[in-house]
Amino acid sequence: MDLTKHAFFEGKIIPLSEAKINIATHGFLYGTAVFGGMRAYWNEEKKRLFVFRPFDHFRRLLNSGKMMAMDIPYDEESLTQLTLDILRADDWKEDIYLRPTIYKADLGIGVKLHELKDEYCMFVMKYEKYVKNDTNAHATFSSWRRIDDNAIPARGKVAGAYANSALIKTDANRAGFDEALVLDQNGHVSEGSAMNIFMVRDGVLVTPPVTDNILEGITRRSIIELARNELGIQVVERSIDRTEVFIAEEMFMTGTAAQVVAVTRIDHRPVGAGLMGPVTTKLRSLFDDVVRAKHPKYQNWNLEVR
Ligand code: PMP
Repeated sequence: MDLTKHAFFEGKIIPLSEAKINIATHGFLYGTAVFGGMRAYWNEEKKRLFVFRPFDHFRRLLNSGKMMAMDIPYDEESLTQLTLDILRADDWKEDIYLRPTIYKADLGIGVKLHELKDEYCMFVMKYEKYVKNDTNAHATFSSWRRIDDNAIPARGKVAGAYANSALIKTDANRAGFDEALVLDQNGHVSEGSAMNIFMVRDGVLVTPPVTDNILEGITRRSIIELARNELGIQVVERSIDRTEVFIAEEMFMTGTAAQVVAVTRIDHRPVGAGLMGPVTTKLRSLFDDVVRAKHPKYQNWNLEVR
């Protein structure tokens, strides 16, 4: 993490090294923060940086804030403009990751959401590959269950809820797997630790619906649109049973950090032929073109930093 780069903290753009919170901060004590994870991509030919779907990311962040009784004096448009100001403060010429957060900023104890001050902050870091084996990941079914909408909303990106994702990821990695598939309380496959999932079954692309305790991923939404429009493949949002993934032709996971990760083995069983399949291969390269503003049809998803 480069601490000399700029961040937004308590209403100002300052070096990250100076953006510090007090140890008695509510959001730190109770996980009462909501966050986003966005990326900006470097386009080498155009020598420009492009932020991917900032408006959609900020809408989800503000919706997460709504669920957690948060109120900040910004909307999607002003947060997007602020992001450009933060990025202009540094001369980024590479792929980067942006982390906006809204948090309960009062100091002291007392578990609640109301009558507390909310603050907005953002830092930026160089992007590092999230899943090493992104063309041949080996996944396992986690023994942990996905948090339920009636416990902590999975569709809100709530900081405290990521203890669930951390348990899932660490146990999977320590058991030798790259990622985990997580069942919800009803026994349906919800998502990975920080990624949405897709499988190809009988030539149809299937992904769990937003009512199966998933985060409503921006990458998921983009992939659904690209698969339908560019690959002409049927996409169905429906619940997925555990054993269906063993007999799927292909499986992949999507996320801002992860991008499109091919899952080629699940609990030591090969998915399809045990190699990255044609749908996953096409979507991976299409998605990479789209995020780098190389696809004319989707340039309304790319915000140029100038
Ligand atoms: N599910 C969870 C639990 C996540 O943390 C993420 C990462 N934000 C995703 C799915 C993927 O969402 P997105 O494509 O918007 O990054």
